Formats: sequence, structure tokens, C-alpha cells
Amino acid sequence: MLAARFSGVGDIRILPVQTSPDLPDGSVRIRVEAAGICGSDLHNFQTGQWISQCPVTPGHEFSGVITQISGDCGSHTVGEHVIADSRVGCGTCQACRSGRKNLCRNLSFVGESCDGGFAQEVILPASQILSFPRTIPLRYGALVEPLSVSLHAVNRLDPLPGAPVVVCGGGTIGGLAALLLRQRGHDVYLLERNTGRQTLLTETIGTTPLSADRQGWSARFGPEGPRFILDATGSATVVQMACNRLAPGGRLALAGIFHHAPQMDFNLIVERELDIRGVSAFANEMPQAIAILPDLIPFLERLVTPAASLTDLPDLYTHLLSGAENRLKTLIAPNGTDGTW
Ligand SMILES: [Zn+2]
Ligand SMILES: [Zn+2]
Repeated sequence: MLAARFSGVGDIRILPVQTSPDLPDGSVRIRVEAAGICGSDLHNFQTGQWISQCPVTPGHEFSGVITQISGDCGSHTVGEHVIADSRVGCGTCQACRSGRKNLCRNLSFVGESCDGGFAQEVILPASQILSFPRTIPLRYGALVEPLSVSLHAVNRLDPLPGAPVVVCGGGTIGGLAALLLRQRGHDVYLLERNTGRQTLLTETIGTTPLSADRQGWSARFGPEGPRFILDATGSATVVQMACNRLAPGGRLALAGIFHHAPQMDFNLIVERELDIRGVSAFANEMPQAIAILPDLIPFLERLVTPAASLTDLPDLYTHLLSGAENRLKTLIAPNGTDGTW
């Protein structure tokens, strides 16, 4: 079978990989039907930062069909449509034992500490997969993982019903969070400097473009400022601005990953009693994300790319790193697009 192999910073190739006919007990073999490229895949490609097994097959957002099972795999069966749970916890710490593995201190991800979904097939422990309805095309299964992150971000922000929300960053997580907030009836103001993406989201889900200009904020939210802001940029400059402009007692959820330790005026938080909440991957949102997926498909189908082939992956990395892609998710179909795609 063919798989993408990352073997060092800047080095990803599509190679034939030998697979064993035997599986470890309690594992399943999955024919990967759809996989999405994540910002963290690009970050790993550029830095290797979160890679703990090398070489490794990246990819943690994917769906497919079980083709083989071994030993006790619970209720999972051959032919079942499934998606991967990207989170790999240590399994022994307090967070993991209490079902909050997104808070595990040693949290890693499929595609970083074990082989992931940028391949024609993948082997995973049965505990690492969820059943996916046969009634939904499998390409949307690849969106469940980022949708779960966005759902967790919205749950953490927990805005009052009907309150306007500012979303900073209209990439996958910010864009999907904006979609979820719009579905719940919030007016969403989007700060996004890629004008093509800003326009796509305005036209598709009805967000209102917002710039960093202070007067624009005053005109929208009055002198107090907005009460709820979701950051999906991981930019210290944006977060500092958000803290500056939140209403006193307002809430900020941080879903972006920071690549530097920022200089920050913490008195902005202290003196106005801002409520700052972190967002780490997702908690128990995957089943809920699957449940709401059918209602979101009319929007999602306009926000994802058509299927690319696995051999296109290195070129897609280059394209995405250039910042030229407006759509929220680039999808690949490692086994083609007939049937279940
Ligand atoms: Zn991801
Ligand atoms: Zn743990």
C-alpha cells in the first residue's frame, strides 16, 4: 500500500509500505477513504515539533472502512464505517482515568506518536475509533475531528444565548466555530485577513467581516466592547487586542496554538476581571459532532476542497503553506472516490 512518510523536517514522500497480514490483539485495519490536512500537520512538516515516532505516517483527521479485526474489538465489525479519535492519552493519569484525555499531560495524536491516515490503510487500537453512520458520505467523516475541536471551543466559550461573538481567525477551527455559533443564532463578527476566506464565510454562513480598526469595534459593540471572543489564531498580538477590547467581565476562549511565549500585559485580565479559558483539542464532543453533521453538510460542502489523491499530498502541503487556499479543509482520498466517498 502507499503511505505518506515524514522522515524529518521538510521531508515528506509518498512511498510503498509493506504491511503485516497480522494485527495486534484488539486492533482494526481500516481502509482510509477520506483524510483532511490540518494546520498541525503543516507545523510538524516545518518543525517536527510534535513528532515522537520517526519516520511516521501523519494524518489524524480521517474516516474509512474496517477491513480486518483481531481479538476483542468490542462491537466493531468488518465493513463498518469508522472515524479516528485523534487523541492518544497515556491512559494512566488522573485526567485519562476520569475521561478527560484531552487534558493528559502526555497527550499526543495519531500521526505523531503512531502511524496515521495519510495512507491507503491504517492499523489502530479499537479504543481509538468511533462508528460512523453509513447514511453520511465518508468524506464528511474526515471533518468530525476538527468539528469536535470547534464544538469544544464553543462549549468552552459558552456565550449567552443571542449574544454577539467575535471570532478571531477564520481557518478550520475558527471557521467551523463560526458556523456552529451561527447555527445557534449568534451574530458572528469575523476577524480574518485572508480576504478570499473572509468572503467565502460571509457568503456561506453569514458572518460579518470585522477588521482590527478600533472605531469599527466601537460602532459594532459600543464603548464597552463585546462580551465574548473566541481566538483561533494563536497570535499574541490578536490576544492582547482581544483582552484590550473585551467588555469588563467578558470571556475569551483560546483555541489557537501559540508558537512563541508572548509578552503580555496581564493587568488587562486582572483589573477588568476577564475570564480566560483554554481549549485543548476536544473532550466528549465527537458523538455530538457526528449527530449534527447532517444539518451542516449544506454548508460544509462549500467549505471543503474536492478530493485530491494521496500522491498530491507533498504539493498540497506547499500550496497550503503559501496561504493561497480559501477553503477550510483540504481533503484527500487515498483509495479513490468511488462508492463511499
Ligand atoms: Zn487537526
Ligand atoms: Zn494521561
